[in-house]
Amino acid sequence: MKKIRRTTIAELLGNAEKYVGTEVDVKGWVRTRRGNKHVQFVALNDGTTIKTLQIVFDLEKFSDEQLKAVTTGSSIHVQGELVASQGKGQSVEVQAAELEVYGTANPEKFPLQKKGHSLEFLREIAHLRPRTNYFSSVLRIRHALAYAVHKFFNDKGFYYFHTPLITASDCEGAGAMFQVTTLNLEDLPKGEDGKVDYSADFFGKQASLTVSGQLEGELGATALGCIYTFGPTFRAENSNTPRHLSEFWMIEPEMAFYEIEDNMDLAEEFIKYCISYALEHCADDIAFLAEHFDKELPERLKFVIENDFVRLPYTEGIKILEQSGKKFEFPVYWGVDLASEHERYLVEEHFKKPVILTDYPKEIKAFYMKLNEDGKTVRAMDVLFPKIGEIIGGSQREESLEKLEKRVNELGLTGMDWYLDTRRFGTVPHSGFGLGFERLVLFVTGMQNIRDVIPFPRYPNNCEY
Ligand code: ATP
Ligand code: MN
Repeated sequence: MKKIRRTTIAELLGNAEKYVGTEVDVKGWVRTRRGNKHVQFVALNDGTTIKTLQIVFDLEKFSDEQLKAVTTGSSIHVQGELVASQGKGQSVEVQAAELEVYGTANPEKFPLQKKGHSLEFLREIAHLRPRTNYFSSVLRIRHALAYAVHKFFNDKGFYYFHTPLITASDCEGAGAMFQVTTLNLEDLPKGEDGKVDYSADFFGKQASLTVSGQLEGELGATALGCIYTFGPTFRAENSNTPRHLSEFWMIEPEMAFYEIEDNMDLAEEFIKYCISYALEHCADDIAFLAEHFDKELPERLKFVIENDFVRLPYTEGIKILEQSGKKFEFPVYWGVDLASEHERYLVEEHFKKPVILTDYPKEIKAFYMKLNEDGKTVRAMDVLFPKIGEIIGGSQREESLEKLEKRVNELGLTGMDWYLDTRRFGTVPHSGFGLGFERLVLFVTGMQNIRDVIPFPRYPNNCEY
């Protein structure tokens, strides 16, 4: 092989006019190979774009023997001239002059032979699915969204604040926790009361994986002003739904001096920014997903960006649901924790727009939310999305020490002194929310199942790799 600098396929196809007529060096994985006894065409993909580069092998130059290893899934290195293509479907192609095979992929064994494998099948070989068009698209969009999250907050002057993944606080109440322990489960140290003696455990107390970084995030916000977290979150609830994972990534901004309206404005601006970013930077991938999985995807994304979200108090929402005349599986009444079918009715059938539902009954929301004057509802705000249901949950936080202590005592929460210190010393009005990152990726990719938008999904009875 000659010494030519390697070009990625994204770079080549994105700037074809610059490279046409020159010798190029490309590396990637073979998607397909077809042809006749004079010429063979290989579609090469290197992960940098959904598009493939056509490589043309003239059989006067390359023998069958040489091309034998060039099969779906094998990795190759090619040099040759980039020329304008004769055929349909691509504007340029490489006229192969040199070939090196890095690794073969036995066609009898490599599972990704044909196109159009079902998503269920791909989930069973999740370690190989990034090699498919579909999944590589989702992963590129996922990356772009993660970058957009950081860019949005950084440009607004928010600080990225790292909250712990291992926590001794179990008061978030957001969900069941996974315990972290180094105790020998076959031989647990017990106290006189017969209970496990956690003073012998690694941290000298019981510890778990975090279900939310919010409480610690509030400590950051009441010092730095505006912070956000972006990290993994763990919930041990047995929710076998297409919207729940046991390990997912959450973004939690927390802002000093923000009231509930500021919080809603930020949430709406933030989601719209992320979606616009993806539309602008992932156009090829979104077009691919639209063509193969979800025709209405681009329209749905644009629609969300272009329209104001409806802002509606929970009590009004309940009235609409009661008057809908619809037969819901779960009954509707004031005080009920809305089920996904209720949320989706409001969003998809009644308003046909994203809805921010506010002022929920205090009983169904977390202890730290600010109590309204009515004494019954709290300043919560859930953002509800078409196809997804709840994508964001947030609130203005109770800043009054007296009221918060009362609530903590009512609920019998202990070990909260460090948290209450935010209210003891220089308390301020503040607000924040949590966005489930995979639910955002789900929306932007148009996928149906949250297990298909994270490389290695964790859910009940599944912890592969
Ligand atoms: P849901 O009612 O949908 O179970 P939640 O009310 O328990 O969600 P919050 O505690 O408010 O969720 O968490 C904030 C956000 O995190 C949610 O709005 C959602 O986007 C996301 N989220 C919550 N639980 C999960 C999960 N198990 N898997 C993926 N994302 C989740
Ligand atoms: Mn919620």
